[in-house]
Amino acid sequence: MSFANLIDGRAIAGQIHDETTQRITALKARGVQPGLAFVRVGEDPASKVYVGRKEKACAQLGIFSETHVLPQATTEADLLALLGRLNVNERIHGILVQAPLPTHFRATVVYSTVLPQKDVDGFHPVNVGKLMLGDPTGFWPCTPMGVRELLIRSQVKIEGADIVVLGRGNIVGKPMAAMLCQKGRHANATVTLCHSQTRDLGAHCRRANILIAAMGVPEFVKADMVKPGTVVMDVGVNRVNDPKATNGYRLVGDVEFAQVQPLAGKITPNPGGVGPMTIAMLMQNTVRAAELSLNLNN
Ligand code: NAP
Repeated sequence: MSFANLIDGRAIAGQIHDETTQRITALKARGVQPGLAFVRVGEDPASKVYVGRKEKACAQLGIFSETHVLPQATTEADLLALLGRLNVNERIHGILVQAPLPTHFRATVVYSTVLPQKDVDGFHPVNVGKLMLGDPTGFWPCTPMGVRELLIRSQVKIEGADIVVLGRGNIVGKPMAAMLCQKGRHANATVTLCHSQTRDLGAHCRRANILIAAMGVPEFVKADMVKPGTVVMDVGVNRVNDPKATNGYRLVGDVEFAQVQPLAGKITPNPGGVGPMTIAMLMQNTVRAAELSLNLNN
């Protein structure tokens, strides 16, 4: 895919990986190899793919990783016990519990059990609170952090922009809005957070300078919802049936790309836009956790 207005997430993620690799080299010179533990419960096919990609990125960058796969029927007590062991394991600087968890787990209890300083996914209430407060010492969730980084590195002005975020999920929409509305550099935006109860969603979208779609609804954003020149960031990952595909489905985003791309100022392809950035931010957060363990930064 080659259009002049594409935001190439793979290329930008590659730049960030290069920067992260330099930090890993510096850490190794001090005798520290960053370590990341993955915890996956059950056999959700998408979770297997996501953890597999993150393991591969660790191997490529020189981050130590280990993956704990627990059966679907694992009790919450057993999962919390594993997290307790990882919390005190000095080899491990970051812990990632792959979402979604089976429904018998209380997600808030699980995410609260990971030590905030090892919470490289940014889901611990302390890190969520720090994000809301604009306190930069916490960890931010990787996907919205990746979207913001894509905007910054694509020279899209966030300050003063009207930004519409579609979706108020805890993993993407809500933290995305919190990051962009802070008082500070690469923030200071006027953010509208839309959801399933929003009245006249199209009118909100048409006002946006930057439109971020994170709903999980296939190709929801159509051309008539986008003002010409708007920067469109497509976070959604949706499976739709496709009898022509070998596995019977294909992945699409929340934006009807073919319609919207010609009028967008800039746009992320999907795949190849936000997805690679989520992994790049996870690697960066893990290295930062390792640096923090040495008091190298704050
Ligand atoms: P989520 O927690 O399920 O949140 C979805 C949000 O979309 C909810 O706020 C929901 O509104 C809203 N919504 C759903 N249908 C809507 C509609 N018709 N009109 C308006 N709003 C609607 O989802 P999430 O975890 O934030 O994930 C969102 C998407 O991002 C998913 O496709 C997910 O796969 C993708 N994702 C991608 C990456 C990546 O690396 N690329 C990472 C994480 C997630 P209510 O709150 O009113 O129900």
